[in-house]
Amino acid sequence: MTMPSDMLHPDEALRLVLDDLPPPRLEEVALADALGRALPEAVLARLDQPPFDKSAMDGFAFAAPDGGALCDSMGGAAGLGGAAGSAAAAGAAGRLWRVVLLVAAGAEAGAPLGPGECAKIMTGAPLPAGANAVQRVEWTEGAGLDADGHDLVRFTKPETVSNVICRGENQRSGSVLIGPRVLGAQDIGILASDGQARIRVARRPVVGVVSTGDELRSPGEELGKAAIYDSNGPALAAQAAAAGAEVRRYGIARDEAGALESLLGRALDECDMVLVSGGVSMGDFDYVPKTLEKLGVRRVFHKIAMKPGKPTFYGRRGPTSVFGLPGNPVSTFVNFEFLVKAQLYRRMGLAYEPRLVAATLAQDLVRRECDRVEYFPMRLDREADRVGERALPLAYRGSSMLSILAEADCLVRVEIGTSVIKEGSLVLARLLRP
Ligand code: AMP
Ligand code: MG
Repeated sequence: MTMPSDMLHPDEALRLVLDDLPPPRLEEVALADALGRALPEAVLARLDQPPFDKSAMDGFAFAAPDGGALCDSMGGAAGLGGAAGSAAAAGAAGRLWRVVLLVAAGAEAGAPLGPGECAKIMTGAPLPAGANAVQRVEWTEGAGLDADGHDLVRFTKPETVSNVICRGENQRSGSVLIGPRVLGAQDIGILASDGQARIRVARRPVVGVVSTGDELRSPGEELGKAAIYDSNGPALAAQAAAAGAEVRRYGIARDEAGALESLLGRALDECDMVLVSGGVSMGDFDYVPKTLEKLGVRRVFHKIAMKPGKPTFYGRRGPTSVFGLPGNPVSTFVNFEFLVKAQLYRRMGLAYEPRLVAATLAQDLVRRECDRVEYFPMRLDREADRVGERALPLAYRGSSMLSILAEADCLVRVEIGTSVIKEGSLVLARLLRP
């Protein structure tokens, strides 16, 4: 079975949707506001991490006779040193050391140590000059005072590592701290550790959402006899917001050319992207494509070989793009996932990579028509004592069945020409929830 000639392959549609977009505009935000924002350019580290040679233990800093951490003072571990490094302090056990300094975290290291001297040191405190290792406090015992009244300490067991983290061992200034990505909580921590208070992120693309249909009412309104609630508007707004957009809702347009024209005209003037749901297929009142073309939108495609979502319209007016998504709510949702999200990310300077997991199909999947790429909502399930996930097809009866998405964890794609996938086959499941 081949693809009908009036339809575009969805992968080609995706390529067109990513084509010829304006570069991201940048803005600076406070670190506290950067979570979830798109970072289109790599951030370079300003600092060495740690910024100074420091102790990884509470204990006593000393000069290990056989080396210790070889921190070069210009930053970075030069040898096998570090918290998990060399056989530093072997040989130091049993000896008595004179405690001449106390170095707390946050304190400057103080005078250099002389022969036979050590410094009591806390985790995170800078290593005094002359020291190259730290003996953990648990492996020491007090040994009274010397003639000058200094504490004496005996090391009871040899350390096998230096317990020193050298300057720049974890991160070098000038190297890439974070590459382009959507910033997560861990990235906020990393940026904070480097002292970055303001971050240059991509401005949120402004996405307008328009629902069309005389049958639609907003949640909260009374439902007439032949009416349904507008679920696409809220769902698209939520999908766009979750993907990083600034959303503008334009409400519900009646199936009437004049009303549609004024609402769509306003949305096109005010937004980077407009998402219209409904009114794009073959019905008597499907005015959206004509109205968009009247408003100066150039049609790029209007039919893709994809199920759900065949009558999808995509057009451009200068830098502004418009998606006319078929009204059935699963179509709208899946089309956003497949096409719109990719463009949103691209507008923020990122490449959207769907999260895919390999899963074994839990039962045969059979379809009669195989002239389109089809996405099946499925549930992922992990059985005890089994490695990996199983993908369970759901009792899905078509793209009007929005409630199926409450049970679905993923979409499984079936290619054009494939009519059967046998139970036990490996499939790629595209995850729908974080
Ligand atoms: P249409 O694409 O306008 O022909 O609509 C196809 C189907 O989707 C019809 O059953 C509509 O009632 C339904 N539909 C259209 N828009 C929405 C919406 N915003 N929310 C929920 N269902 C919708
Ligand atoms: Mg309609």
